[in-house]
Amino acid sequence: MRLILLGPPGAGKGTQAKRLMERDGIPQLSTGDMLRAAVKAETPIGLKAKDIMARGDLVPDDVVVRIVEDRITEPDCGNGFILDGFPRTVAQAEALETMLAAHGLELDAVVELKVDEEALAARVENRARESGEAVRDDDTVEALKHRMSVYRAQTAPLIDHYAHTGKLVAVDGMQEIDAVSAQIEGILGKVRNGAVGAAG
Ligand code: ADP
Repeated sequence: MRLILLGPPGAGKGTQAKRLMERDGIPQLSTGDMLRAAVKAETPIGLKAKDIMARGDLVPDDVVVRIVEDRITEPDCGNGFILDGFPRTVAQAEALETMLAAHGLELDAVVELKVDEEALAARVENRARESGEAVRDDDTVEALKHRMSVYRAQTAPLIDHYAHTGKLVAVDGMQEIDAVSAQIEGILGKVRNGAVGAAG
């Protein structure tokens, strides 16, 4: 099962990806987590990404594309993966298509988490407050506003992009976490039966 979780910052992509990983044993590939690990380890990529991420801007496409390509070719991705936070631009989506084709792979579904933006701002502010010392550099009100505008300008166009493939399925991300998971599991059931992605 090869899935993309799409949605604005704070929509719950990470939470849902972790649950899918636990339930279905499919690895979660979060470019945000991978980049934060690189920042922490002060690798060359991390040093390049640190300030960009703190501002809420996007790390250059070629950097994240390379990270993803390295990761999806690892053995644990043999049965699929859940992409969380990638692709974030149309260029990344195109690079993903090229790399999947090069490895003889296809996407199964793109799950869009639909959420209310005002509720999101509150969620992310809470996350910043509750996490105590481990507050993310980009979980400030200012950076969040910027991440939202970056999402609208650069990532939201992917919804149209994937709508044309017949693989896009929307989920109401404002429900309780369990209800969102249940809806996603229902979609995965349909994907397994061939009822999603038939047009793509
Ligand atoms: P969010 O909670 O905002 O969805 P993520 O953890 O997915 O956050 O990403 C945090 C930051 O990491 C982004 O604001 C961006 O700077 C960088 N990043 C993550 N994924 C990508 C990507 N696919 N392309 C470019 N930058 C990325």
